[in-house]
Amino acid sequence: LPGDHISHFDLNKLASTPMAVYNKEKVLILSPMSKFLNQYWANLLKLTYPRELIELGFIVPRNSDGDKVLNFLEVAIKQVQTGPKEKRFSKITILRQDNDSIRSQKEKDRHALSIQKERRSSMALARNSLLFTTLSPFTSWVLWLDADIVESPTTLIQDLIAHDKPVISANCYQRFFDDSKKKESIRPYDFNNWVESEEGLKIASNMRDDEIIVEGYANIATYRPLMAHFYDANGDVNTEMQLDGIGGAAVLVKADVHRDGAMFPPFPFYHLIETEGFAKMTKRLGYEVFGLPNYLVYHYNE
Ligand code: GDP
Ligand code: MN
Repeated sequence: LPGDHISHFDLNKLASTPMAVYNKEKVLILSPMSKFLNQYWANLLKLTYPRELIELGFIVPRNSDGDKVLNFLEVAIKQVQTGPKEKRFSKITILRQDNDSIRSQKEKDRHALSIQKERRSSMALARNSLLFTTLSPFTSWVLWLDADIVESPTTLIQDLIAHDKPVISANCYQRFFDDSKKKESIRPYDFNNWVESEEGLKIASNMRDDEIIVEGYANIATYRPLMAHFYDANGDVNTEMQLDGIGGAAVLVKADVHRDGAMFPPFPFYHLIETEGFAKMTKRLGYEVFGLPNYLVYHYNE
């Protein structure tokens, strides 16, 4: 009605179901991006979920890396969004971070244990900003897809949706050249998909309130079963496992889980932060978290 400034949305009519394409359920793909990789963009464009049902959201750091990303993104986006109508995404949002970013982003520096709390906490803030500014009353699903995921099945969205889980994480591997065997091979990359262990709980119980456990570091031996190690090349790609911690590489979330309040704690939450804290918060909200050990996506190899 003209002059009626009130919008009504019945969230009861907003579904997240395995019949997503048929029901025209909207998917929001969110990528924090400190580097623009052509392979990420090419892979994104190969996804076969209908484009008119996909919204994209990016958040880029407030530094010179961010400036470069913005330039690349704008060119890439313009090409798609001025092309054939049926190939355009329904909406694209780019955010510039308001908090400072950690400067050095070389893989070795990024992964030093000493800077994990600061780095992961800053990533959590970026993810929260991105989520809370882009989630709309129409969003059924949120796909978290890191900007350095350069290869996935083209049916990534449909495949993850088919499991009909509140949260489901793909297994993130990396291609590399194996010098000893003189051939291309793959290796686990993301160790943040894990199952809690007795030892992990014990370590946490002895920590100060502000201390965190980050998985994948030898000096914190949690003996948590890591999904990365459960990959079986001959196994069923649909094999599911329950997880207590997840990474952010390729994770599908029912939008209602986020609407209920599941976010990425930038502070220690049960001694966990960012994506691992998100999994914990999701579980505290009463949802289950899953991973697909045999369903691989590939991380860029610097
Ligand atoms: P790693 O793969 O665990 O080493 O983590 P990354 O450094 O790759 O970060 C995960 C995702 O966040 C990737 O998509 C990065 O492009 C992005 N990213 C990393 N640092 C920042 C940052 O400071 N700001 C923003 N907005 N994105 C970032
Ligand atoms: Mn990465």
